Amino acid sequence: MYQQLRAPERLFRLGQWVVAFLFAFFLIKVGASLIADLPLLSTGPQQSDFLDQRSAQQVQQQILPLEQSIAELQKYAELSQERLLRSQDEYSKDKQSFDNWRAARGSTEQAENNPEVISRVRKLDEQLKKQTAISSELQQWQKKIEAQRDRLQPLQQQLNALNNQANQAYEQALYHSSLKAFAIRLLFVAPLLIAAIWLFRRHRNSQHWPFAWGFIFFALFAFFFELVPYLPSFGGYIRYGVGALLTFLGGKALMHALQQYLERKHQEQTAPQEERKQEIRYEKALESMAKGQCPGCERGMPGIEGAVLNYCMHCGLKTHEVCSQCGLRHNAFFPYCPACGSAAAAHPRAATVTQESKNQA
Ligand SMILES: [Zn+2]
Ligand SMILES: [Zn+2]
Repeated sequence: MYQQLRAPERLFRLGQWVVAFLFAFFLIKVGASLIADLPLLSTGPQQSDFLDQRSAQQVQQQILPLEQSIAELQKYAELSQERLLRSQDEYSKDKQSFDNWRAARGSTEQAENNPEVISRVRKLDEQLKKQTAISSELQQWQKKIEAQRDRLQPLQQQLNALNNQANQAYEQALYHSSLKAFAIRLLFVAPLLIAAIWLFRRHRNSQHWPFAWGFIFFALFAFFFELVPYLPSFGGYIRYGVGALLTFLGGKALMHALQQYLERKHQEQTAPQEERKQEIRYEKALESMAKGQCPGCERGMPGIEGAVLNYCMHCGLKTHEVCSQCGLRHNAFFPYCPACGSAAAAHPRAATVTQESKNQA
């Protein structure tokens, strides 16, 4: 849209947008630090705040020695287990060797009276007795471990109950603190939004528009990044409800704008030519004409073979006229004839163009 503006004007407009964005940027920074420093938002509740510390400590003091004794008993049990395995291993080796030895000698000799047989069998018997002793020792350790575990279980249940109780209170506190944080943010952001709406309605085209737009961007940023993420969920009702409301308002504004646009166009068409010309911004008129569009109704104006077109075929707006001094046919929006330089006849813009384009910038 800048092609038809004069070069310095283009720069000024660009500079004004830069001012708007910079203004928004610094406002956002100030707002964010302000919100971050609000004392009520910086400290959330902790789970440990809600634990019955004294009872929990008492239970833990009972649990600790039990756990230590279980660990010790388990060590003893492991040792017994190892000894049992070793002894079983020894026995099976000796038994194997005895069996082999007997097989080698054959069944001819009477085994019962052989002293070596008797000594070997006795040794195997002793090994079996030793195994039984170790087994019963292991069972003793395991019984003791079970007994300690039986004592430990109710204590652990007690501790779990205390923790569950604390968690319930903690979650409730968390919920309340998130609601409070949201309310504080709402108190901060709502006035910004109201101010932004007011600026948009009253000052979006005023001389100070870069500041108005900067503030509007700031308020939008605050809304979407400082408020929306902290909306309490209530199972999504609020979030989706706000979404539906915003969509509804946006849709309504869009329909309203469309209706206004159509009404305006209709009114423009019925006004006299000179009045219609005045209603159209000079830069916009030049831009539309360059694109082959009617500056009034914004529809395309295709050429017709063999015809000189001076009016829009859709709305009847005068688009070309003939210079009263030199007879050149030119764009009806030119305030001066491009051939002879005379001010266009009855053109109210001839003397005021500069002032107007400034006001509309
Ligand atoms: Zn038209
Ligand atoms: Zn002329």
